[in-house]
Amino acid sequence: MSFKNLEEAKRVVSYYSIARKVALRVDKSDSVRVRYKCIVGCPFVCLISEVKKGKGFEIKTLQTKHICPEAFNNRRATQQALEHYFKKKVQNDPKCKVNEMRKIVDDNFKLNISYSKMKRVKRLVLEKLDGSYVDDFNKLEGYAQELRDNNPGTDALKNGWRAGLRPFIGLDGTFLKGKFKGILLVALGQDSMKHFYPLAWAVMDRETIRTWKWFIELMRNSLGLADGEGLTLMSDMQKGLNGAVGDLLPKSQHRWCARHIEANWSRSWSGVQMKKMFWWSAWSTYEEEFNDQLKSMGSVSKQAAKDLLWYPPQHWAKPIIKMLEDIRIKVMKRLKQLEEEGKRWTEEYCPYSMDMYYDFRMIAQGCQVVANES
Ligand SMILES: [Zn+2]
Repeated sequence: MSFKNLEEAKRVVSYYSIARKVALRVDKSDSVRVRYKCIVGCPFVCLISEVKKGKGFEIKTLQTKHICPEAFNNRRATQQALEHYFKKKVQNDPKCKVNEMRKIVDDNFKLNISYSKMKRVKRLVLEKLDGSYVDDFNKLEGYAQELRDNNPGTDALKNGWRAGLRPFIGLDGTFLKGKFKGILLVALGQDSMKHFYPLAWAVMDRETIRTWKWFIELMRNSLGLADGEGLTLMSDMQKGLNGAVGDLLPKSQHRWCARHIEANWSRSWSGVQMKKMFWWSAWSTYEEEFNDQLKSMGSVSKQAAKDLLWYPPQHWAKPIIKMLEDIRIKVMKRLKQLEEEGKRWTEEYCPYSMDMYYDFRMIAQGCQVVANES
């Protein structure tokens, strides 16, 4: 096991110490090594030292056998380790109770952390989040300029839709977790294979007629939708959205999606997320488990929206630019993948259409023309 610096190595040892309920102590420590031992009489030892100047750190000696009893007062439960542990929880629920946090570490690690210490942990997590968010929002304009200058694929999206896709657009808004308290608005098209085709997305402060109007107006102008003649839109029953569509695309057909009405998936999402936040069991298998969860989470159409929104769990804590960039890259990769799929078609029309054609031809063979008698 290797670490990029001594700080990271110490954090991992702290986690180990907390999870294993052993009271490790630092036996020797300088700028190139740290050695941990357990209580007197316990054979545990762990030495971590620098591989080569500037080349990171490695475990050099490790004896993991313990003969000591469970430790209740663990000095490795440092403020730093606790901050790291609670970062996502506090981010997703800044109003979480200090006593609830204390109960979590008590239940899971038999650790008794004082109220004042836990309160400090929570305050520091919030302060650091504040700092990074404010900083990041200030950089948004720069990010937008960067995208405009380099135009990475935005024209490809809209040209693709205009050239080959049916005049159908699904619209949805979904709550963002964490401190943004924002909404991600998304417009999706659909290709002949019923794959979803992301057209546009934006982060707004909330879902209102004002924000939807802004979003739909930009989309209308960009895709050349004019008054919406021949276009079908599908969405949930958002008031703001209906008003905006009526004003901006008066001739479009607007359908409501029953699935949207029945399922408020952002709630169940947060449940899954929370339950899965326990890093120690999740360390190695997190992503696979997470993917399985996604698969089992219902229907194809919901899956599509989530696919787009999904970015790896380790990025949840990352601020807005990181999120937007993740989405953009994900969309580009998806288009590339669908293009590759399309190249493998063996017939002139897509497999989905061909299946339908063969099905109907079968049915037609069983049909007889009956003349009307009179
Ligand atoms: Zn021990």
